[in-house]
Amino acid sequence: MTEQTSDFLDDDHPHEECGLFGIYGHIDAAAHTALGLHALQHRGQEAVGIVTYDSGQFNSHRAIGLVGDNFSTEDVISQLTGSTAIGHVRYSTTGGTVIRNVQPLFAEFKFGGLAVAHNGNLTNAYAVRRNLIERGSIFQSTSDTETIIHLIARSEYGRVVDRLTDAISQLEGAYSLVALTGKKLIGVRDPHGVRPLVIGRLGDAYIITSETCALDIIGARFVRDIDPGEIVIIDESGLHSLKPFTKKPRRFCIFEYIYFARPDSMIEGKHVYAIRKNIGRELARESNIPADVIVPVPDSGVPAALGYAQEANIPFELGIIRNHYVGRTFIEPTAQLRNLGVRLKHNANQGSIKGKRVILVDDSIVRGTTSTKIVEMVRAAGATEVHMRISSPPTTHSCFYGIDTPEREQLMAAQHNVQQMADIIGVDSLAFISIDGLYRAVGEAKRDQELPQYCDACFTGDYPIPLVDRDGGGMPKQLSLLAERD
Ligand code: SF4
Repeated sequence: MTEQTSDFLDDDHPHEECGLFGIYGHIDAAAHTALGLHALQHRGQEAVGIVTYDSGQFNSHRAIGLVGDNFSTEDVISQLTGSTAIGHVRYSTTGGTVIRNVQPLFAEFKFGGLAVAHNGNLTNAYAVRRNLIERGSIFQSTSDTETIIHLIARSEYGRVVDRLTDAISQLEGAYSLVALTGKKLIGVRDPHGVRPLVIGRLGDAYIITSETCALDIIGARFVRDIDPGEIVIIDESGLHSLKPFTKKPRRFCIFEYIYFARPDSMIEGKHVYAIRKNIGRELARESNIPADVIVPVPDSGVPAALGYAQEANIPFELGIIRNHYVGRTFIEPTAQLRNLGVRLKHNANQGSIKGKRVILVDDSIVRGTTSTKIVEMVRAAGATEVHMRISSPPTTHSCFYGIDTPEREQLMAAQHNVQQMADIIGVDSLAFISIDGLYRAVGEAKRDQELPQYCDACFTGDYPIPLVDRDGGGMPKQLSLLAERD
């Protein structure tokens, strides 16, 4: 029996890589951070960490696994004393999850201690890191967050905020980060604002976190999004805002609206759930065909399927049931059992699809492996026709901004046209929302071809931030200590 750290259970979605939570000025900082991270668990399920500060000392607990498995006991929380904290949930890419990569990372500097947690991906981290190593830096993790720490340490500025600004101005990429010193909680969003970061309040306490669902869980009030390129500093005199970087066009990740963010979150002034329903409506307007039922692929396809069903005036049915008790870490069934078609994660709800023409609604097709199995299952349950509608345009390119997607060669839409994909998946018809349909669903008239309003690079190949490492050649997608040694 093998314990898997990657999700082998038919999960064919891109993975969000991190969620952030920071709190300043609350007596139960660690417990609130654990709850906030629990609400952000969808953004990363492989590792979790919390750092607090109390009377001259930083306290930290970092672990592999889920928030609930590591921070639910009084023993752990009671050791994380202090009224300020930051925390992080992480999904790792290649190389597995090792504790040295679990964030927040912490370092002692000449100005004192600093903990940093990061969501996103630095696109020039490898080049910067190589340069730092040549100048004598010693790295302990493969996380590009450590690059930020080294740059802060080497900065010639005095104040921590100036050092951080100096460090960040040398970096390219998509990043939201939270940092904690003995006196300050700091939040930063990259100049394009690719990844989300919001401010909330709970009584007198301040919170900085990835999504508003982490505010809701602790009864905190949403204040505002942190602006692209903004640095927010919270200390005993309140909240201070800096915008030290050259202003760049806003390019929020449009995939957050399609899939990554929790549907009950509000991001950049828009409710994610409402946007997902809009996408379903647009999809129905663009590509509806006669059918008896609309069936979502649970759970992420549900809001788009609802919008589709309402627009097309076709009944919505839960024709596929998902087993919620299948975790990411699971004892792998033997190959023999898998071949018998063990349906660990999804099962067809025969009563609602037998003898019917079914339109399945899902949010994306990455490798196509899940879709093929689901279609097979729905046909086996007696559907007379199976059509598939996808609430994102075809995923033709990899993401380099903090979402784990396979290499292009493994992306089904990069290798096949829509008809070929339909044949492989085994559906009677397949359609994706158009890129302009997607932009309409998020409230734009259409995609601005000159200056797109969002990052949509995984659908268009139009990367808004230079891919310094990738284009420099020979860089592993995820930084590797071993690669450094070669
Ligand atoms: Fe989001 Fe795709 Fe851009 Fe990555 S490439 S940030 S997933 S829109």
